[in-house]
Amino acid sequence: MNLIQLFKNIKPFVKPYRWLVLITLILTLIGSLMAQVNAIVLDRTVDAVNALVQSPNFAWSKAAKILTIITIVLLGKEILSALITFAQNYFGERMRIFVSRDLAQSVIEKVLTFRMAFFSQSENETGKLQTRIDQGVSSLSRTVQNFFIDLLPLFTSALLALILMFMANVYVGLVALFIVPIYFYITYRQARRLKGWRRDMRHYLETKSHGIMNIIESINVIKSFNRERIEGDKQLNIQNQVTENQMKTRQVSFYYNGIKSFVKQVGTVLVIILTAYLVLIDYPGMSIGKIMYHVMLFSNVVAPITQLQRIFDDMNDALIYAEGFFSILHSEKDVEPSGSYHSDKVIGNFKIDHVDFTYPNGKKALHDINMNIESGKITAFVGLSGAGKSTIVNLLDKFYEPDCGSITLDGVELCDYDTQFLRENIGIVLQKNHIFDGSIEENILYGNPNATHEQVLDAAKKAYIYDQIMELPKQFDSKADQLSGGQQQRIAIARMFLKNPPIIFLDEPTASLDAIATEQIKNSIDAIKQNRTVIIISHSISQIIDADVVYALKDGHVEQSGNPDDVYKKGGIYKDIIDASARSLNIEKIARTIEEG
Ligand code: ADP
Repeated sequence: MNLIQLFKNIKPFVKPYRWLVLITLILTLIGSLMAQVNAIVLDRTVDAVNALVQSPNFAWSKAAKILTIITIVLLGKEILSALITFAQNYFGERMRIFVSRDLAQSVIEKVLTFRMAFFSQSENETGKLQTRIDQGVSSLSRTVQNFFIDLLPLFTSALLALILMFMANVYVGLVALFIVPIYFYITYRQARRLKGWRRDMRHYLETKSHGIMNIIESINVIKSFNRERIEGDKQLNIQNQVTENQMKTRQVSFYYNGIKSFVKQVGTVLVIILTAYLVLIDYPGMSIGKIMYHVMLFSNVVAPITQLQRIFDDMNDALIYAEGFFSILHSEKDVEPSGSYHSDKVIGNFKIDHVDFTYPNGKKALHDINMNIESGKITAFVGLSGAGKSTIVNLLDKFYEPDCGSITLDGVELCDYDTQFLRENIGIVLQKNHIFDGSIEENILYGNPNATHEQVLDAAKKAYIYDQIMELPKQFDSKADQLSGGQQQRIAIARMFLKNPPIIFLDEPTASLDAIATEQIKNSIDAIKQNRTVIIISHSISQIIDADVVYALKDGHVEQSGNPDDVYKKGGIYKDIIDASARSLNIEKIARTIEEG
């Protein structure tokens, strides 16, 4: 991305605040004009005091007059400057904050529209994506400040000081004009050299925050295995890279800053020598006061250019971060596709026809899948872990699109459905259900934000969690993330009951429940199966054998399908899994224990 593209991309975000930009710009311009006052006052003061001291008719009254004027002018200017600086900072900051809010909000809204594949790419892992967005927002809002508020007044200030120098004396002006491009060039070289390292820094920062997120998420595993040292070492590696990068950046900066400081001093010395020489040869218009005057003007010329270094750096950062940021904001390929089809009533008959599917990382998870999933029946997916069961559910919920083949719901291609409409009609309960920050009631209401309190209570009862909630000190207002894994799972089941959709996907819904709760939930699920499509992925033998249809999957293929009893009789993978489950449950011994009891 180049500067013009960057500018074009930022423009729409600044447009709503153009009045703030204009006000700040005018104030900053006035501020930079006033910055020249000191030099002019000093010039006049030195000359006036000098003339008075050397005059034969020196009088204190005259000196007092000069001092009073200086005091009034300088203090007046300072008061005005303070007011202007305040207003300028206030309006400038206000705009920067607003732009930063708009940038952040628009990228969040964009990310929410993205398809699942976007989130499963490694460069978009939690911490990395967050860092990219944060860095993008902060560097772009700084750019807005630089572009629209700082840059123009800086140049005006430098130009004004240069014009005043030329007006005072052409030779002195030429010295400044000679020094400025050299200074400029060194600043430019410095920014160029730092660019690569700054880009690397972005990568390191993303990796670092991803690493920290990982530690927080898996802290109980790290601690239980005593792997603090290993995790610490992994971070140390990244820290070392960051440190090395920072050291190199600083080294280059110090080197160039040294050169720039030297060039500036050379300029100052040249200005002093030249002015002193002109005073000595009695050049017209030259007086001793001009030495100070020229030195101050020269520093007014150079000071803004010193700031240019910061702006160069910020711009380079912005160019680096803007690429990542705007690629998210303008991405169309990542937006979740949606058709426009709505039906009056979803019945829930899925037909999967010759479907293949590959995850974005290249892993082919499904091969030639054919299924008929009917409403009013419980369909169970059986298979070893990694066989592709959850992947099929992901396709049915349109989280991903198949590579080839077709999936229809009630005879209409899934891709033609309005995605939001489709998902309104599907309820999912996963093995690990996300509980949001908030109360139990808010978490259940996620299933249907318009539901009444009574409906929430009813859903909790159906999910057999009501009694446990009522025992909590704050009951339904208790924080949901403090519940146990099994309780959270039942909150997710209550959420699904409240949603009350015609299609239900249950991915190991009772995996973290105790035996009693599992039985209760099984009864609830059996009760709601009427006129609904229920797909259940489960390792629980009792849930599988109660299904109307089973699909036994292996390595992304459907190996067997049909009525559980018939499939079992045929032998094969389904029988192997059921037998192994029965053996692992030690069913024979359990049966004997129960009989004897
Ligand atoms: P199951 O539900 O039967 O345990 P999955 O459908 O979750 O299996 O996974 C099928 C295969 O796809 C596995 O090999 C798994 O590693 C892979 N897989 C699952 N999710 C992803 C993903 N988001 N990105 C890449 N590969 C994945």
